[in-house]
Amino acid sequence: MEIIFYSAKRYDNEYFNLSNEKYQQKLRFVEDRLTPETVDLIKQESVVCAFVNDVLDQEVLSLLAQRGVKLVALRCAGFDNVDLNAAKKYNIKVIRVGSYSPNSVAEHALCLMLALNRKVYESYNRVKDGNFSIDGLLGFDFSGKTIGIIGTGKIGLILSRITQAMGMRVIAYDLVKNPECEKLGVEYVDIDTVFAQSDVISLHCSLNKSTKHFIDASALNKMKGSVMLINTSRGAVIDTCAAVEALKSKKIGYLGMDVYENEQGLFFEDLSCQTIEDSVFNSLLSFPNVLITSHQGFFTKNALENIANTTLENIQKFEQGVDLSDEELQ
Ligand code: NAD
Repeated sequence: MEIIFYSAKRYDNEYFNLSNEKYQQKLRFVEDRLTPETVDLIKQESVVCAFVNDVLDQEVLSLLAQRGVKLVALRCAGFDNVDLNAAKKYNIKVIRVGSYSPNSVAEHALCLMLALNRKVYESYNRVKDGNFSIDGLLGFDFSGKTIGIIGTGKIGLILSRITQAMGMRVIAYDLVKNPECEKLGVEYVDIDTVFAQSDVISLHCSLNKSTKHFIDASALNKMKGSVMLINTSRGAVIDTCAAVEALKSKKIGYLGMDVYENEQGLFFEDLSCQTIEDSVFNSLLSFPNVLITSHQGFFTKNALENIANTTLENIQKFEQGVDLSDEELQ
């Protein structure tokens, strides 16, 4: 099949071309993000391979249908950027890679926790500058502290395992209890208890109507003072303006973000020679206790291999009319 890859980076090219030695599909990579303005880049491709910040709303899906696109293959797990009802209306099948390496994201959440606590980014800069003072770098032991995990699916489960092994008490909130977490001894509690008792809160729920701005001013008010808040799920789970206010009042003591609600057009791009005109983002950058990475939680060799293999395998199944129910969204 002919497949166009939007938002394609060098590493997508590399991993998909390697995997494609087995599948022999016709791949074309474009760097542009999928938007109404870039649909015209499609030539005769009937499959669009898209990523987290590509736009797949009603307008784009209707344009894709007009161009004869039959399949949207997301090379990611989250699908909050897709209007699934519109896809159904236009008879476009949507698939994703539901699980490629939940370890990669859970380990990145842990990385943000550790780096923020021990201010590794600050000590790295100090040592490079010949400043060997440790004043101001004081951390705390995670052992004995409570972590609240919101969303205990694949990634939340792994972070539960890791933090439990570090001696933390793990409490959790999810609409559905994960039996694997229950086996570990994770305590499911109501959301207000998570807010009230957690020293660290890590977000691992999907973004949907019920989780948009789940962490708003009212939720932040219920948290312990100086709480550590980690978000590797989707940016819009946090109301960023409310988080900025909570940083100012010191309600949030540490903020680790791998995702940001207005990350489209910002994350994944090299804008080092430009002025960033997002005042909320610039405000976040001004706090020494905020650590932002640009959506790299998924970015491990293992994950890229699995993403490429699963995506091409599923496209081949689609071509052959084989059942895709595991990865199919509509
Ligand atoms: P998953 O589907 O296994 O788990 C998501 C969990 O969220 C489910 O258990 C679900 O019940 C829960 N949930 C949904 N609505 C909720 C609500 N209102 N309250 C509480 N819990 C709720 O997904 P996963 O593989 O663990 O991934 C979690 C999220 O991480 C993805 O949806 C994606 O947005 C994000 N993600 C980020 C990266 C990254 O690079 N930073 C990579 C992969 C996934």
